[in-house]
Amino acid sequence: MAAIQALRGTRDILPAEIRYWQQVEAVARDILGKATYQEIRTPTFEPTALFERGIGEATDVVGKEMYTFKDRGDRSLTLRPEGTAGVVRSFIEHGLGTQGGVQRLWYCGPMFRYERPQAGRQRQFHQIGVEVLGSPSARADAEAIAIATDILKTLGLKTLELNLNSIGDASDRDRFRAALIDYLTPFKDKLDADSQDRLTRNPLRILDSKDEGTQKILDQAPSILDHLSPESQARFEQVQSLLSALNIPYTLNPRLVRGLDYYTHTVFELQSQDLGAQATVCAGGRYDGLVQELGGAATPAVGWAIGMERLVILLQQLQSLPEPAIDFYMVSKGEPAEAQALVLAQTLRQAGFTVELDMSGSAFGKQFKRADRSHAAACLILGDTEAETQTVQLKWLDTGDQTAIAQADLLTMSDALQTRLNSRTREA
Ligand code: ATP
Ligand code: MG
Repeated sequence: MAAIQALRGTRDILPAEIRYWQQVEAVARDILGKATYQEIRTPTFEPTALFERGIGEATDVVGKEMYTFKDRGDRSLTLRPEGTAGVVRSFIEHGLGTQGGVQRLWYCGPMFRYERPQAGRQRQFHQIGVEVLGSPSARADAEAIAIATDILKTLGLKTLELNLNSIGDASDRDRFRAALIDYLTPFKDKLDADSQDRLTRNPLRILDSKDEGTQKILDQAPSILDHLSPESQARFEQVQSLLSALNIPYTLNPRLVRGLDYYTHTVFELQSQDLGAQATVCAGGRYDGLVQELGGAATPAVGWAIGMERLVILLQQLQSLPEPAIDFYMVSKGEPAEAQALVLAQTLRQAGFTVELDMSGSAFGKQFKRADRSHAAACLILGDTEAETQTVQLKWLDTGDQTAIAQADLLTMSDALQTRLNSRTREA
């Protein structure tokens, strides 16, 4: 029978790769924790209406990319295509904003979009994201951007570029939309098919088109930055001056519009030149209308999401992470010895050591070979003689020094063992 394989657009993250994921999560958790962001975990599926209302029906995500299905109770459910709508639903449902103040939340987990799979673009992918709810201040935008930058820099990314734009408030956008339609309509036949379709449904998204012909036409198109009200303009300037104060360089990109309908004012993307076509590792912006749109009290908010697959691809190019260090590799042969080795391994693990127990039952020689390959600091050896005398042979693999120790003494020596292990770590 043919073996079943993972679905197209999904992939297994195998042990050889998992270290990079753990490193991303650890660095993010640390930096977010220091900025008092709290983790939130929301369901992986939600009512379809949440995304239709939250993200907007005219967007690619809702129009083409959602995994939507009926459950056995005939409800329309959707596997979340992004994290913000679920977090905002939860924020409203649990009254997280009722105490006033600012809620700084972060999440991490799988997202689902029906897309054409390619490097850095999958159907199940993962994001780490933040949502800062309750602050209209430009400082909230700048802080969110600074934290994303910090996470990516701490992970070692060097060729980062921050693209920044403001898409103003709803009335700024109405004015700009009208100007854009006026400009583009005479070129309608020359636009790519997607853009022709968007001209009426979602004209701002045309700015995002990758089509060369459309790009040429856009060169002379009106700029959103010329359609901002004085207030929106001042707000955007404040964000820029805070970024400068934080020493975060940015490039103004008036063509940057985001794929989801809920954004207002600041929008941004962090890109890496090392990623090829899928260059954006982090994207986000302000979404002052979303909480109200989803039935909550008017609450200004800003957030971003990092695409973890793209980040891991970059990290793998940058560095190879060492395998986790093993303190002791436990070798045993013969029934009583094997049983004692298991007990001893557990005792050492409980005392804080990392112990690999060879369970193969193969000849000593083969077990020693595996011990060498494991890069453990030392080998613990139990045969019939050791079992009988309740001892164990301790062999340091760097020097080859070997001594017999009473099993009962092994733990009382644990400080000395730790010191010897530490000295090895320093040399390595
Ligand atoms: P793109 O233009 O690349 O499709 P997007 O605007 O749809 O991106 P967002 O919804 O802003 O992406 O998601 C934030 C980040 O999540 C992206 O910048 C990217 O790093 C990552 N991401 C989005 N979709 C995918 C996907 N299908 N596979 C892997 N990562 C993704
Ligand atoms: Mg997309």
